[in-house]
Amino acid sequence: MTDVALPTPGAARSWWLREALATETDADAAPPLIGEIDADVAIIGGGYTGMWAAWFLAERAPGARIVLLEQDICGGGPSGRNGGFLHGWWEQIGYLSAHYGADAALAIAREADEAVDGIGDWCEEHGVDAWFRKAGYLRVNAFPGREADWRGTVDQLRALGAGEQLVPIDATAVRRVCASPAFGDGLMMPTAASIQPARLARGLRRVLLERGIRIHESTRVGSIASGGGRLQLATEGGRVFADQAVLAVNAWASGWPGFRSRVLAWGSYMVVTEPIPDLLEELGWTGGELLSDSRFTISYFRTTRDGRIAFGAGVGAAGYGGRIGRTFTHDRQAISRVAANFRHLLPMLRDVRFEDAWGGPIDITGHRFPEIGSSHGGRVHFAHGFAGNGAGPSRLAGRILAELVDGRGPSSVAALPFVGRRQPFLPPEPLRFVGARMIREALIREDDALDAGRRPGVLVRAIARLPRLLGYKLGH
Ligand SMILES: Cc1cc2nc3c(=O)[nH]c(=O)nc-3n(C[C@H](O)[C@H](O)[C@H](O)COP(=O)(O)OP(=O)(O)OC[C@H]3O[C@@H](n4cnc5c(N)ncnc54)[C@H](O)[C@@H]3O)c2cc1C
Repeated sequence: MTDVALPTPGAARSWWLREALATETDADAAPPLIGEIDADVAIIGGGYTGMWAAWFLAERAPGARIVLLEQDICGGGPSGRNGGFLHGWWEQIGYLSAHYGADAALAIAREADEAVDGIGDWCEEHGVDAWFRKAGYLRVNAFPGREADWRGTVDQLRALGAGEQLVPIDATAVRRVCASPAFGDGLMMPTAASIQPARLARGLRRVLLERGIRIHESTRVGSIASGGGRLQLATEGGRVFADQAVLAVNAWASGWPGFRSRVLAWGSYMVVTEPIPDLLEELGWTGGELLSDSRFTISYFRTTRDGRIAFGAGVGAAGYGGRIGRTFTHDRQAISRVAANFRHLLPMLRDVRFEDAWGGPIDITGHRFPEIGSSHGGRVHFAHGFAGNGAGPSRLAGRILAELVDGRGPSSVAALPFVGRRQPFLPPEPLRFVGARMIREALIREDDALDAGRRPGVLVRAIARLPRLLGYKLGH
């Protein structure tokens, strides 16, 4: 398939995180928790969601004793390895309207969209250079036989007076953004921005420490007990007693009691090329636009400040029983698929070298929408299920979580109607694992057949459509 050697995923931290860590010459330490401590609020998870929750909580309740516990380092999970696509939920307008009505859908989408400028402004205010660039996000049809039909979503947004949020553009205009012969027409989301994801995560960590928030890294929370007056969080080296807790563990929720029945972990993988500024110039792709194709196993790609392409695809596999292991970090076959998609979408760059490869888990729920709410008698608040689109929405989740914890005053975002609504149950293990693997295989085979100009087999098509028939928003 290729004579260009592929890097091995999982050998090191992501290219993004290494780049960000290299700029931290004097990062404050966040040592593991040893012994027992007392807090008003304990936050589990040092990704964007947990850190935004800590930030907004500190803003609302300046004197609150907040402790954040992270099993790795802050940003060591997907928040430090994602594509850096920053956008809200305009594409979800159909789902949101169907569940909550048109007005509420618009209100939810507007709050999610706040994240983009909100993150840009926050970075500016706090001296975080996260390479924020607001250049828009363009989805393109590039695989014959799998063209997306965006008309319904576009019409819905127009009817709501928000037609400017998703703008159909023809193939000629698409190729003015990036002159690939593989690209057909597309859909532009002008308000989207790109970031260097790990720089945002590490910037959040720095600012939280400066605000006096106590962070313990290399500290895994094994359980939350709610008996008696206070919550007790057990870690390997100690315990936290807290009035309330925030569970912001993303795909790891697929292994937590109370959540595992509604969250599935799925792998997404990325590569980054050597610097190719001259080739980007030739392609005309110098505006910093984010790009993706329109298949279910989505390929997403963008440029970096130093003239590389970071390219990912949702071609990993599902995990088993909530275990977040090597499936999500060491899958060489997934990287081969990412590379093949790269060459299909950008055929003129077939000789470009990949310098790094990595993967991570994304958290999928039945409707591919987050669930944010409270459990344990209103003392534990949770947010997960971003389905590969959490870089922006995790900021809204953080605002909601801070309100759920604080509870004082007129609530705004915590009153949005999706808050407190659970996602559908997923089949139990081992059925879930077997089903998810079969469906993934069917989706990939269907894509392969169409790429080769063949009609996919009846069985393959039936399996790829099974989740939709069962009421899940997954597959075709
Ligand atoms: C390869 C890849 C590409 C992606 N691309 C994009 C993109 O371009 N745009 C986008 O919007 N989204 C993207 N995503 C998804 C995005 O990264 C996530 O939605 C987002 O980072 C979620 O933030 P989070 O804080 O909820 O989760 P995370 O960043 O996963 O943070 C959760 C943290 O909890 C910690 N944790 C888990 N269990 C425990 C425990 N028991 N005790 C202590 N700590 C614990 C984990 O170590 C982790 O650091 C991508 C994801 C991947 C994997």
